[in-house]
Amino acid sequence: MTVTVATLGFPRIGPRRELKTALESHWSGKSDAAALLATAAGLRGQAWARQRDLGADIVPSNDFSLYDQMLDTSAMVGAVPAIYGWKGGPVGLATYFAMARGSQGGHVHHEGCTHSHAHEGEGAPAAEMTKWFDTNYHYLVPEFTEGQHFALSSTKAIDEFLEAKAQGILTRPVLIGPVTFLKLGKSRTEGFDQRALLPALLPIYAGVLKRLAAAGADWVQIDEPCLVLDLDDRDREMLRLAYAELVKAAPGLKLMLATYFGGLGDNLATALALPVQGLHVDLVRAPEQLDAVVAGARPDLVLSLGVIDGRNIWKADLSAILDRVEPVVKAGRNVILAPSCSLLHTPIDLDRETALDPEIRDWLAFAVQKVAELAAMARALNEGRDAVRSTLDAASAAVASRRTSPRINNPAVQKRAAQKDATLARRKSAFAARRRVQRARLNLPAYPTTTIGSFPQTPEVRKARADHDKGVIGDVAYEQFLRDETARTVQWQEEAGLDVLVHGEFERNDMVQYFGEQLSGFAFTKYAWVQSYGSRCVRPPIIFGDVARPQPMTVAWWEYAQSLTAKPMKGMLTGPVTILNWSFVRDDQPRSATCRQIAFAIRDEVVDLEKAGCAVIQIDEAALREGLPLRRGEWQHYLDWAVESFRITASGVADATQIHTHMCYSEFNDIIASIGAMDADVISIETARSQMELLDAFASYRYPAEIGPGVYDIHSPRVPAVGEMAALLTAAANRLPADQLWVNPDCGLKTRKWPEVKPAIANMVAAAQAARTA
Ligand code: GLN
Ligand code: ZN
Repeated sequence: MTVTVATLGFPRIGPRRELKTALESHWSGKSDAAALLATAAGLRGQAWARQRDLGADIVPSNDFSLYDQMLDTSAMVGAVPAIYGWKGGPVGLATYFAMARGSQGGHVHHEGCTHSHAHEGEGAPAAEMTKWFDTNYHYLVPEFTEGQHFALSSTKAIDEFLEAKAQGILTRPVLIGPVTFLKLGKSRTEGFDQRALLPALLPIYAGVLKRLAAAGADWVQIDEPCLVLDLDDRDREMLRLAYAELVKAAPGLKLMLATYFGGLGDNLATALALPVQGLHVDLVRAPEQLDAVVAGARPDLVLSLGVIDGRNIWKADLSAILDRVEPVVKAGRNVILAPSCSLLHTPIDLDRETALDPEIRDWLAFAVQKVAELAAMARALNEGRDAVRSTLDAASAAVASRRTSPRINNPAVQKRAAQKDATLARRKSAFAARRRVQRARLNLPAYPTTTIGSFPQTPEVRKARADHDKGVIGDVAYEQFLRDETARTVQWQEEAGLDVLVHGEFERNDMVQYFGEQLSGFAFTKYAWVQSYGSRCVRPPIIFGDVARPQPMTVAWWEYAQSLTAKPMKGMLTGPVTILNWSFVRDDQPRSATCRQIAFAIRDEVVDLEKAGCAVIQIDEAALREGLPLRRGEWQHYLDWAVESFRITASGVADATQIHTHMCYSEFNDIIASIGAMDADVISIETARSQMELLDAFASYRYPAEIGPGVYDIHSPRVPAVGEMAALLTAAANRLPADQLWVNPDCGLKTRKWPEVKPAIANMVAAAQAARTA
């Protein structure tokens, strides 16, 4: 049987982020809907043709989205919350973008803010946004109510199929499966489990399948990544019910059930028992499941093998993959070769990265290159390996060079990371003893005030950075500009009466990139954008080799800032787990090993800051929670090495040096023991909007160290009043001993404007003063 090639989804932002430009121009009123839709159609057409030309036999449609595929699904089934004032009928662009971004006056998602909240204002707030499984992509969370009515409200899936057909390409349309859609949504009715809505939802899906069949589709891809999560009996029952119904919807139409982001594990039997015609499995995250899948699958089940990593940027070892797949093909199985998941999570085209070091470039494959890899492997299976010998040899050579290159291998780093000495991850004394010496040294008032690190990245700051990057202004002028910004900010903090100051982070482009650029083992791209949400894209650093810190990274800036004030100046670093979780990580060693190397590099920086006289050092672990594995059973292992890495960074200093950490989210209940195990002296967290309720987790755990629960919601331009923040401090003091509390905003202030920040911080200081005298 001929082996074919499929892709499950392709990057949609465009090779030059054309979609971003078109969206933002439309949102700002500079261009009309027709212009936006024309750009979108152009990008779709380009992507279909590109994939076909690269050798994909099965090309997806409806993987494109103007904002998000989960939002598209909500629109498809008419799950539009009442606040958007939608009256039924097709969901138009205005309603769609109101759900995505909030309508006039409501809260709008913005940089540095990946969730949404209802703020005062006239309009409707954006729907909530959250991470798509364990990727750095964010989807809009569908909302359901008891008695929810569904109706086909968008024909996008059918329209885009027809659009491709008109272009001469018979695509395989993609739908988010009904079970994943419901499970990833949330119920707006207290006590109501939205899974009860499945019977009401299925007729809409059946209707879409019928229309797709009528339009000429022969296969439809239905994504049910929920199959790699821990499921309960009710979930499994839903899957059985859903697919029993859906395979009946349109006779002759075949369903490819796609699972990805992990192994099926204990859901394998459930998946194999579903009456679908094809099953896609992720063999990158879970290579071990191949045998069980093949052994358990009906002989006629088409197997789509996800053998190329859709989440990372490394060239694959094609011959090794062929060795594993060949026996399955020889056994007479009907096999499709595919990426592990949609290529949405990879950058588009490596060929544009002409400035990248050629040796490193030769190790990489982006979306375009990955489709070509699949096509080469299919040819090898169909015609014999000699037909693509040079491609296979080149792939093997790249893999071999990665194994041995001195660029990747740094024996000193490896030796250091291999040390098992437990004292490397332990402070010299326990917290109570450290606290005594830190208090004596810092002599801070009760309810000490501080900020999380960054101050407004104003248009002037961004322009100066861009001009410096372009060479329009030289190093000396740029340096002077940053010093002036820093000095102004330090002086203002003194005037505002803050107790522990920060330098403001004006010199940093990004909290991970800034460090990655100074560490060895990291590479940066020019155009390798990946969608984070909507029009927002990120360019994650590539960690390709052993990580070392050739020289101090932040000490000079800290020294300068401290020279301007007698108050303690915080050193400000990004932690190893966050650096790891926001990068493309090498796949030739466990993530834990890479994290440990970064930990030692940051540890050296912590020690150097201490040597320079720094008494308070903050190590941000904004993304620690984001790295949690999808399966609960794997959490502890992750948390153990993540916490150990943090502790390595923090444990090189004396008791009198106060280590802070910061996390910008508000779910701690289920990881509180690990947060405690980090053994930071002070942790600042996001709490302003939850009315301090999440401190209950810290209280019942009897968290011993100090805590700065955010009292200022930095996601809103609003200036909180003194009384409001004082009330939050009272609420905090009702939950934890007052002498454990710090006073700070929820997160860094880089996305805010000075006219908001100055009064808000003044009020915050006043609230702390009120708490001291209360
Ligand atoms: N120190 C960083 C800042 O203040 C922390 C940002 C974050 O937690 N996302 O911007
Ligand atoms: Zn934060």
